[in-house]
Amino acid sequence: MKYCGECGSQVELVIPKDDNRHRHVCLSCKTIHYYNPKIVAGCIPDLDGKILLCKRAIEPQYGKWTLPAGFMENGESTTQAAVRETLEEANAMVEIQDLYTVINLPHVNQVYLIYRAKLSDEGYSSGVESLEVDLYAEADVPWEHLAFPVIRETLSLYFEDKRAGNFKIRTGEILKKEEGYEMRLHT
Ligand SMILES: [Zn+2]
Repeated sequence: MKYCGECGSQVELVIPKDDNRHRHVCLSCKTIHYYNPKIVAGCIPDLDGKILLCKRAIEPQYGKWTLPAGFMENGESTTQAAVRETLEEANAMVEIQDLYTVINLPHVNQVYLIYRAKLSDEGYSSGVESLEVDLYAEADVPWEHLAFPVIRETLSLYFEDKRAGNFKIRTGEILKKEEGYEMRLHT
């Protein structure tokens, strides 16, 4: 950040009084600009055991498959965000069930909240951010072509819990390593 979003003056990176980390502070109006993690909300749309996946038409990870999910907008709830993202990316209606995963991605300052959801059988098609959308049974999921580790981990947990007939909230974090990543599951 170079300029203040409030008044347009230059900012400097300093530790404000009574704080313990660097913040961008406006030299003119003194506004302290805080940056905090963003929430990504999404769902696992299930129709008779098959999951709706979207092939990304946008960077990053253009052409890779993902679950409908995206950044929350101001003024909406996490479930509203999950429903909206599914509508935007797959032109599909879902009925949100329970929260399923809370996965922290500290290296990109994001938290993923993914809900289990029932896909309505009224159809689906590619939204503007998707090249293709389709339903996948576990054996047919393009595991080697999934967009993000958080999606791969969420999907594999989902199928594991579904087989066991016991869904519980899964929480954890994904840590970036020199090569690949490490998934740390808390629950
Ligand atoms: Zn300012």
